[in-house]
Amino acid sequence: FNNVEFKETLMGLVQKVREHLQNLENSAFTSDRHRKRKLLENSSLNSKLLKVNGSTTALCATGLRNLGNTCFMNAILQSLSNIQQFCCYFKELPAVELRNGKTAGRRTYHTRSQGDNNVSLVEEFRKTLCALWQGSQTAFSPESLFYVVWKIMPNFRGYQQQDAHEFMRYLLDHLHLELQGGFNGVSRSVILQENSNLSASNKCCINGASTVVTAIFGGILQNEVNCLICGTESRKFDPFLDLSLDIPSQFRNKRTKNQESGPMCTLRDCLRSFTDLEELDETELYMCHKCKKKQKSTKKFWIQKLPKVLCLHLKRFHWTAYLRNKVDTYVEFPLRGLDMKCYLLEPENSGPESCLYDLVAVVVHHGSGVGSGHYTAYAAHEGRWFHFNDSTVTLTDEETVGKAKAYILFYVERQAKPGAEKL
Ligand SMILES: [Zn+2]
Repeated sequence: FNNVEFKETLMGLVQKVREHLQNLENSAFTSDRHRKRKLLENSSLNSKLLKVNGSTTALCATGLRNLGNTCFMNAILQSLSNIQQFCCYFKELPAVELRNGKTAGRRTYHTRSQGDNNVSLVEEFRKTLCALWQGSQTAFSPESLFYVVWKIMPNFRGYQQQDAHEFMRYLLDHLHLELQGGFNGVSRSVILQENSNLSASNKCCINGASTVVTAIFGGILQNEVNCLICGTESRKFDPFLDLSLDIPSQFRNKRTKNQESGPMCTLRDCLRSFTDLEELDETELYMCHKCKKKQKSTKKFWIQKLPKVLCLHLKRFHWTAYLRNKVDTYVEFPLRGLDMKCYLLEPENSGPESCLYDLVAVVVHHGSGVGSGHYTAYAAHEGRWFHFNDSTVTLTDEETVGKAKAYILFYVERQAKPGAEKL
């Protein structure tokens, strides 16, 4: 990932992205022209890919080029591209050219998220997902997506290594906001309600109307706080898109090779420590409305509603006085049948199988610090596991996946009756 050839192409890309940004800052008109050229380039690329696809029946995975420490983005994109319900929604959206028509004016985009009508994260995300799994063995360059990311998420500018989890949260939040905002006066959340049953069963709303983001990843936590002085209980519902789990402290210490006989940390240990009753320490005193002052209290999380796709983030990066340290502990996780029933608030209200989850993707961080290292992803596609390492994609097996030191795990809800709830 760091060879000479790569560095040469990188310099070209850096220049290209900078030019794009410059043009955008300077003039909306110029950037529009660039955009049109970009669309043309992409459509000719697409027809090439289709030809390749037409001549071969074997399904080939497509890698994503690294644009300079952008493996954090590639690992997330490859993981999301293998979450079928989520990915299909974007792939089925009409292309921007079709939506606007050839005679459409310069103000082609309306997005609420950043008030910038020159860029659309949804459109670039859609194009990137469409480029993957088309049969091309040549890695796709996600530069136009990256350029929109730079534009609307300023904290991801530059070529330093970033936190893949942080990126995923920003990406999902911005997709959600843009989908809520609507395009050309047509709200995409309305489109979603009309053409699928995704929103029907979804009560979780983060910032208002539901979108494909909240319909797929959205769950609800019940946060129970008890005042230790008067015993008053207060309950609060918190919508979530993912759960950030601590690796319990007894498993955090680095072990030497000879010491590896101790108990192994499991995903269940992490989930248990997340949902266990916790006594809040002096620094997080809770404002009791009955005592009318800040009191010592306990906190407990219940899952009130499980999402269709359960995203679990293992908190491997911890702040010490000055540095963010990495917890490198191996955490054992199931590839099939993760049972979430015991964390549910009302387990009796759920069917026998609806709490079971199967693994679909894992993001792994290799290296020691958050500002360095390398991200790759494992993901299952039509029953086979692949390892996505930027432009290189290799077939792998379950045993290898199970040994990975997971950073982010994506679990898909097992359907109670196969085919009963098809999208
Ligand atoms: Zn109280």
